[in-house]
Amino acid sequence: EPKAAPAYLAGLNPAQRHAVEYGGAGEHGSGVFDPPLLIIAGAGSGKTNTLAHRVAHLIVSGADPRRMMLLTFSRRAATEMQRRVERITAKVLGPAAGAMTDALAWSGTFHAIGARLLREYATDLGIDVDFTIHDREDSADLMNLVRHDLGFSKTVKRFPTKHTCLSIYSRAVNATSPLGEVLGTFFPWCAEWESELQSLFAAYVATKQKQNVLDYDDLLLYWAHMMMEPALAGQLSDRFDHVMVDEYQDTNRLQSSILLNFKPTGQGLTVVGDDAQSIYSFRAATVRNILDFPAHFSPPAALITLEQNYRSTQPILAAANAVIDLASERFTKNLWSNRASGDLPALVSVADDNAQAGYVADCVLANREAGLRLKAQAVLFRTSSHSATLEVELTRRNIPFVKFGGLKFLESAHIKDLLALLRWSQNLRDRVAGFRVAQLLPGFGPGMAAKLLDAIEGGARPIRGLNAFRPPTAAAEHWIDFCATIKALHLGKAGWPADLDLASRWYVPLMQHRFDDAPQREGDIAQLAQIASSYPTRERFLTELTLDPPDATSDQAGPPLLDEDYLILSTIHSAKGQEWDSVFVLNAVDGCIPSDLGVGTTAEIDEERRLLYVAMTRAKDQLHLMLPQRFYVHGQRSMGDRHIYAQRTRFIPNALTHHFQSRSWPAAQANASLRRPISPLDVRGKLRGMWG
Ligand code: ATP
Ligand code: MG
Repeated sequence: EPKAAPAYLAGLNPAQRHAVEYGGAGEHGSGVFDPPLLIIAGAGSGKTNTLAHRVAHLIVSGADPRRMMLLTFSRRAATEMQRRVERITAKVLGPAAGAMTDALAWSGTFHAIGARLLREYATDLGIDVDFTIHDREDSADLMNLVRHDLGFSKTVKRFPTKHTCLSIYSRAVNATSPLGEVLGTFFPWCAEWESELQSLFAAYVATKQKQNVLDYDDLLLYWAHMMMEPALAGQLSDRFDHVMVDEYQDTNRLQSSILLNFKPTGQGLTVVGDDAQSIYSFRAATVRNILDFPAHFSPPAALITLEQNYRSTQPILAAANAVIDLASERFTKNLWSNRASGDLPALVSVADDNAQAGYVADCVLANREAGLRLKAQAVLFRTSSHSATLEVELTRRNIPFVKFGGLKFLESAHIKDLLALLRWSQNLRDRVAGFRVAQLLPGFGPGMAAKLLDAIEGGARPIRGLNAFRPPTAAAEHWIDFCATIKALHLGKAGWPADLDLASRWYVPLMQHRFDDAPQREGDIAQLAQIASSYPTRERFLTELTLDPPDATSDQAGPPLLDEDYLILSTIHSAKGQEWDSVFVLNAVDGCIPSDLGVGTTAEIDEERRLLYVAMTRAKDQLHLMLPQRFYVHGQRSMGDRHIYAQRTRFIPNALTHHFQSRSWPAAQANASLRRPISPLDVRGKLRGMWG
């Protein structure tokens, strides 16, 4: 006879409730062993919601939120999880819920949590606590520097680019695989340079250490090494009663090794995911992590599956299920939904990119007229550049939007300059940051900047090296001010966020000389100051912004005000875990999804299929898959009107089209509204399409 659920769990179905209340016997020192828990289920079945209820349930039952670690896929997901937990616990705890959920401080991505732990345990790990973190661009720049130093860029013919080198390095680190294996499997065209790459990576690692910088991979790598040290792993394990991971299907081997050494028996470990949504293998994520999880422990992990989808209407779910059913390998079962009514998802044929943008903008506005806020609608695409035409169209029609996973606010030159200044003054050995900052001074080119950095490195203390340096005459009038600013920031006497004001006061006059649109950029800097004020310290600010920058808005000026309504634009990868009433998927054509026109391996093709499944399962009520008849081939756009005649994605073969309604736009008769005459080329494409 099951107990009646407490009110705050009343909305859950039996399997969800079981997952929420699972274990607990051994939690408060009674010595009973609770095996780890795996919740594995399809999209929209309430996995994340169940995890939030589990956290809330533990808190309500007296567990200490400071002793919980919550690993999510993005900072946004962590914040969202915290909000949900607060809403649930408030039903029991009332106003005290706020403080309880604030105490849930160890929630974030693997990288962000790793950075915090490394800062805290720096001494134990033999690293300098003032380390700075390189984003991908900085890392590629450093790789390039080392590549030049070793002479490979000149002496070795067709040596891989800095980005390729970094990808190879990163893949080897994250998959914990030997270089030769990584080259053979993923970069066969680079295999001939194995020995050069080996020495390049050795030098890259040495350089990072000398400069006291960590790249993204290091955050996991150092953490993983910390967990291989039983004493440290034990300390950390004692410190956290519960470790919970969402989207476990997208973790890589390094992440799983961290977790398994952290909680070797699995006690207190809960992981959640869906193998059908594994879409990060290009970052060395492996679906084996989730599939092998139960058997890793003894006794094995408890397994709970969920079967009802609460997100989508039955027609949308049926179409998504049909698509994923064609995958060669799959663990999770199909879901059902009792949201029976609703339109079939639409396959919308349009002439090209322009027509696609026009159609989406029209629909979005019509939906808004019908009472659907812009925020309840999203446009998803494979690659960030695919939304370019749409962005122009939205701007033209004054439809505000926010773009996830695209060009980031923090990637603009002036913001990077300022952040480099903050970073460099914190760690004067960080050459990539220093190189950028020094060249802001008049009279400083790359050569002079390198001299300055050498002088700083050569000094008994970095600041002494700076003091002793003789600047070129062109920089003379700026020099005293420059040194004073660096020193003040280095000592951090002003505190946070006053340090940012200090940095801006030095930077803005220089910026005014450099950029024509300086006033607009000053607006960005004001935005940055606003963001900065929500972080307790400079380290937290730099770390979290480097790892997970805020998203760009239509005016490129940082996150929009919270009460504003805006349309969501997102890559499919960044849309993970989210949902919207209405979803548009751009370019659902071969050459885009799947991205490769040629035939990939089965594994590659399946990953592309899962990507489409992720996109489709974001929709609650309305789903449009866009089929431009002409599609610009990746990277060739700048060369003129290079396009291919596109075919509907192979993941929706004719046998599945009954799950959809077909539309073409503009409708044949309504040619008055044609924005662009159809060129003869389109006719040829259609004729060929008849036989495709
Ligand atoms: P994804 O695989 O996309 O991450 P998910 O399994 O994590 O999805 P959630 O995002 O947790 O699913 O839930 C999907 C939607 O279903 C949410 O709007 C959630 O509030 C709702 N939902 C989940 N469980 C229930 C329930 N028992 N009753 C009503 N609604 C529910
Ligand atoms: Mg989820």
